[in-house]
Amino acid sequence: MITTEIAIIGGGPAGLSAAISAASLGAKVAILERDGRLGGQLIKQTHKFFGSEKQYASTRGFDIAKILEEEMEKYKDKIDIYTNATVLGLYEDGVLTIEHNKKYMKMKPEKIIVATGASEKFLSFPNNDLPGIYGAGAVQTLMNEYGVKPGNNVLMVGAGNIGLIVSYQLMQAGVRVKAIIDAAPQIGGYLVHASKVRRAGVPILVSHTIKRAHGKESVEGATIWQLDERWQPIEGTEKYLDVDVICISVGLSPLTEFLWQAGCEMKYIPELGGHVAIRDENLETSVNGIFIAGDVAGVEEASSAMVEGRLAGICAANSLGYGDDRFEELRRDYTEQLKSLRSGPVGAKIVSGLSKVTVKKQFA
Ligand SMILES: Cc1cc2nc3c(=O)[nH]c(=O)nc-3n(C[C@H](O)[C@H](O)[C@H](O)COP(=O)(O)OP(=O)(O)OC[C@H]3O[C@@H](n4cnc5c(N)ncnc54)[C@H](O)[C@@H]3O)c2cc1C
Repeated sequence: MITTEIAIIGGGPAGLSAAISAASLGAKVAILERDGRLGGQLIKQTHKFFGSEKQYASTRGFDIAKILEEEMEKYKDKIDIYTNATVLGLYEDGVLTIEHNKKYMKMKPEKIIVATGASEKFLSFPNNDLPGIYGAGAVQTLMNEYGVKPGNNVLMVGAGNIGLIVSYQLMQAGVRVKAIIDAAPQIGGYLVHASKVRRAGVPILVSHTIKRAHGKESVEGATIWQLDERWQPIEGTEKYLDVDVICISVGLSPLTEFLWQAGCEMKYIPELGGHVAIRDENLETSVNGIFIAGDVAGVEEASSAMVEGRLAGICAANSLGYGDDRFEELRRDYTEQLKSLRSGPVGAKIVSGLSKVTVKKQFA
């Protein structure tokens, strides 16, 4: 059985930031990442990020992953990195079971930070299992990690930031985006992204959804239709689109299986993407010693995932007795950074969601 002070499940922006901040206070950390590379979602983000300077705004996502990896180098004697390490279970006695390079191993950490991110939501419609129907994340992985075009003509379902950004990246790869549709009556993503795709001639149809996919062996077309103000489809508004790819980008759900398994108190919060753990201001869940950070704590952005990671890292380290002289100052700083990232109209939804799951005092 391997032992460590803090095990971090997930090597995305939240997990890497947690490792850096915990190790900087002196704690011994193990990062467990199921992928062969660190960086999580950042690896496939070829666009320049928004946010504030402290969270590497104007830097491309994959470059942010490199910056975090370089920062980890400073603490290499404190951080053990396990890639190709899928955590399979988190049990009541605090033991993690892990498949690492096709072998099983067990780890007993003193504290755990769950930073597993989120998974894509899907839609029900006839023929939604045809080859050629992808989640937006899968399309990004194919194009930006493996250099594979998913097809030639795409219908994008979802006009949030991810749908808009992936549409633009598809166009950069030489794929034609026939239309972006969204069931909501307005575009959910930033208008700067929407303007970019519109300028390139892509129609964005709000109050529209997909009726069905067509095809025998794979996607050959899609029928879309309009929704009324009660989100009901309007007969007679159907349009057929000649596409070979349907890309679904209708939101993400926090990947919370371990938190359920560990018995954390959970609550359904639509503003945060689904079920999330009740936590205190130190990001500790109702199960003593289990912390959360990033999209698993509520679907947001890489910028806030990194700050939450830093916060969870110092809180887990401090609960082991590290960093007493610097802890309060750092905690104040990260809490202020999160407040500022969540100010403004987009942050209001997150703040409202968080107010329903954040409890003031640490759990006993
Ligand atoms: C198209 C797109 C565009 C985006 N653009 C922006 C942007 O401009 N600005 C911005 O701030 N944010 C952006 N984001 C959001 C950002 O990428 C995420 O909010 C961020 O990556 C969340 O970080 P995370 O560490 O919580 O999760 P992730 O990045 O998802 O990392 C989680 C990690 O956990 C690992 N993992 C999961 N389960 C296990 C397990 N059982 N065992 C071991 N490892 C596991 C996964 O493999 C993954 O590496 C974008 C996202 C997308 C999809």
